[in-house]
Amino acid sequence: MAKFQVNILGCGSATPSALHNPSCQVIDFRDRLMMIDCGEGSQVQMRRMKLKFQRLTDIFISHLHGDHCFGLPGLLSTMALHERGGRVTVHMPQQGMELFRSFINYFCKETPYDIVFNAVSGDGGIIYEDHALTVEAFPLYHRIPCYGYIFREKAKLRHLNGDMVRFYNIPVARLQSIKEGADYVTPAGDVIKNDILTTPADKAASYAYCSDTMFDHRVAQAVRGVDVLYHEATYSDDCATKAADRGHATARQAAAIAAEAGVGKLIIGHYSKRYIDYEVLVREARSVFDNVAGACEGIKIDLL
Ligand SMILES: [Zn+2]
Repeated sequence: MAKFQVNILGCGSATPSALHNPSCQVIDFRDRLMMIDCGEGSQVQMRRMKLKFQRLTDIFISHLHGDHCFGLPGLLSTMALHERGGRVTVHMPQQGMELFRSFINYFCKETPYDIVFNAVSGDGGIIYEDHALTVEAFPLYHRIPCYGYIFREKAKLRHLNGDMVRFYNIPVARLQSIKEGADYVTPAGDVIKNDILTTPADKAASYAYCSDTMFDHRVAQAVRGVDVLYHEATYSDDCATKAADRGHATARQAAAIAAEAGVGKLIIGHYSKRYIDYEVLVREARSVFDNVAGACEGIKIDLL
């Protein structure tokens, strides 16, 4: 079965700690890897979780705070030592691109693979697209320019009913259009409706990443209806003022966004190190939205 899996490599805030690594996730989409944020130590977590450097094609950086990008030069440098070929595209807010480009050009000279930078700016929009997936950037509301990312599978094809295909002796050349929803016209001119020949397509899955951001209804609009939402929950509700001052959200606010957006499941993370046990944040979120899980290093979430 096709894979669409989110791997949590780091879900702490601010600095690496004994409990958590800073932000990093890897989307495993049909065996290619796409990283979101790259906090310090992300390359070590990749090794621990057996995520191969060779399969990593794209890195999406939300913003230029160190806990979201300090792992990037080290990771790119290590990948050069592994002599992987091909290309890695780093998508990041425009403000940090020249800084990172010169830094990486200095430390990662003559890499055996190409490093391409893609600036994310303005209102974002679709910044990546292939035959099966789009990645959309949208603004978050933090202390510096910051973007969330939505990974959406494209609509899938309908399933052929093999018995009916054989019964009507449909030529192979017509099968693709029938999977796309077309009716079949027999040589005698009879129209065979598509729903006789096929069963509905599997649902296309979607995943949204929102970190870092303060509570803002525009985030709910941007992520409306996604299957799984990762939303930062740096603090609990008793620190709501501090959260707002620092451009962060509480667990209750993350859940309110999930409820308003009508998502299927909420994953919270980016925990302040004041919380030894993040279950307190999960419980707070569950008081507002039922389907909540706490992120934790090493977990994998299947979207299909
Ligand atoms: Zn930040």
